[in-house]
Amino acid sequence: TDPSLIRNFCIIAHIDHGKSTLADRMLQLTGVVSAREMKAQYLDRMDIERERGITIKSQAVRMPWEADGTAYALNMIDTPGHVDFTYEVSRSLAACEGAILLVDAAQGIEAQTLANLYLAIEGDLTIIPVLNKIDLPNAQPEKYAAELANLIGCEPEEVLKVSGKTGEGVEALLDEVIKQLPAPVGEADAPARAMIFDSVYDTYRGVVTYVRVVDGKLEPRERIQMMSTGTTHELLEIGVSSPNPIPSKGLGVGEVGYLITGVKDVRQSKVGDTVTNSLKPATDSLGGYEEPKPMVFSGLYPLDGTDYPALRDALDKLQLNDAALIYEPETSVALGFGFRVGFLGLLHLEITRQRLESEFNLDLISTAPNVVYEVMGEDKQLITVTNPSEFPDGKILEVHEPMVAATILAPSEFIGVVMELCQSRRGTMRGMDYLSEDRVEMRYHLPLAEIVFDFFDQLKSRTRGYASLDWKADGEQVADLVKVDILLQGDTVDAFSAITHRDKAYSYGTMMTSKLRELIPRQQFEVPIQAAIGSRIIARENIRAIRKDVLAKCYGGDISRKRKLLEKQKEGKKRMKMVGRVEVPQEAFIAALSTD
Ligand code: GDP
Ligand code: MG
Repeated sequence: TDPSLIRNFCIIAHIDHGKSTLADRMLQLTGVVSAREMKAQYLDRMDIERERGITIKSQAVRMPWEADGTAYALNMIDTPGHVDFTYEVSRSLAACEGAILLVDAAQGIEAQTLANLYLAIEGDLTIIPVLNKIDLPNAQPEKYAAELANLIGCEPEEVLKVSGKTGEGVEALLDEVIKQLPAPVGEADAPARAMIFDSVYDTYRGVVTYVRVVDGKLEPRERIQMMSTGTTHELLEIGVSSPNPIPSKGLGVGEVGYLITGVKDVRQSKVGDTVTNSLKPATDSLGGYEEPKPMVFSGLYPLDGTDYPALRDALDKLQLNDAALIYEPETSVALGFGFRVGFLGLLHLEITRQRLESEFNLDLISTAPNVVYEVMGEDKQLITVTNPSEFPDGKILEVHEPMVAATILAPSEFIGVVMELCQSRRGTMRGMDYLSEDRVEMRYHLPLAEIVFDFFDQLKSRTRGYASLDWKADGEQVADLVKVDILLQGDTVDAFSAITHRDKAYSYGTMMTSKLRELIPRQQFEVPIQAAIGSRIIARENIRAIRKDVLAKCYGGDISRKRKLLEKQKEGKKRMKMVGRVEVPQEAFIAALSTD
């Protein structure tokens, strides 16, 4: 296709502002999905299939659209919608020349609207501001058009108004996409360069890689090369999704499509990498490639120890489709054999855990998630700590913790409660702006460890659901952090060690010791439960001894009853873990680890 007849765009929006619904309408209006096939959230439906690895799915859809008698090809590129996947979002944006910035006409700008807008501006995209849901009776298009115009620096009249639900204004929007967005430019005769913006494992076809061609041309049957690693593959199939895969004779400048090489693992076809021709390779990659970097770690253990090999297999399978998932074996006194697993964020952790449980039928227990620290002990070496148990003993000179730049949007009446919450989480305010007279944007620098767990829930509940949050990694800081150990009769229970700020160590210690006192049954001897920083005890509870022998109850010499009791006791013991001399039912560990 002639690049001047191509337009590549994405839709960016805060969650629930109607991106999927608008995409549906576009598929329908352009005729690529007939009314008969149309189901709500057509592309989302395919997402689910994709997760299960059943069919090839479109991460980009090619749609024909005619304007002023000329036939154009529109490529709509989907972007993931969550902060955990910012890097993937940035690569999808990099595949486009422009973005439709979609805002709910009854809600106005929210945190993800801003976060996505900033990413789009960084990527030099042309932005088309659009208000959606104008059919809603409580829509305030004039008010929010002014807000949006003010934000991006255009006239309120330039903000388009549509309804993804009724279809109103959507044809006009497609016309504007053609009019306002620049056509892709690239060198047709240069060595091929294409950027990978998504890579998906398919059970039948292996990895399906979605690319945007910048220069040159990719053709079937030639050998391609991944520029980050230099590995080469034969290009078995190349084509476009519309939205079903249609093989083609090749993709040229500005085109968006998929390619299949027969590789079986998404790590061989990585998002952000540049694909070139191995016979005539480009000298420079397109840039912007980053290795996925896990931000949050947690131990995952099977409830039933015999499921350990099954858990390993399941993780191996998930990794085929998830380049960001990393793991290594780990053992725990309390929980047995498991894995230390790294995630992009908490959502990534939840999705992974849910998939392991539902798709692989595993019952799992996970340890409290922690972020990654750099710790300098007496030897002046900085070591990376992804597990509290790796925190060095002895004198600690410095601990570095990861930081984030957070953006919070809220009605101005909640400024006070938001500030209070951020301060209690060791945040520093970096700025505040009014988006309109009753809505503010607050910017904070916060430790990742303080927001990654329950911050969003807290924010929502304190603002009655009105605040929205977005954040991205933003360097690190030196902080007064310590490791708190929990000891049973003097022995450390590894799964409960935590790295916290010194000011919060005491509350963590008392919380865990009192929880465990409730959960651990009495033993033949007294069991002290302690919380300690190094050798200094900061909290203590006691479980008093019992003297009752289970056999003392048996009257006379009833041998068979005695045997039965012994059997029963043995059975019970199987699910007991020994910590030093102390017997702890595994349920107690699990209950203590669960957050509520
Ligand atoms: P996404 O999270 O941005 O993909 O949003 P969805 O497309 O899933 O839409 C979120 C909710 O808003 C759904 O209940 C939609 O039915 C509804 N919705 C989307 N667009 C419109 C619209 O134009 N008008 C109305 N009234 N509702 C809409
Ligand atoms: Mg959606």
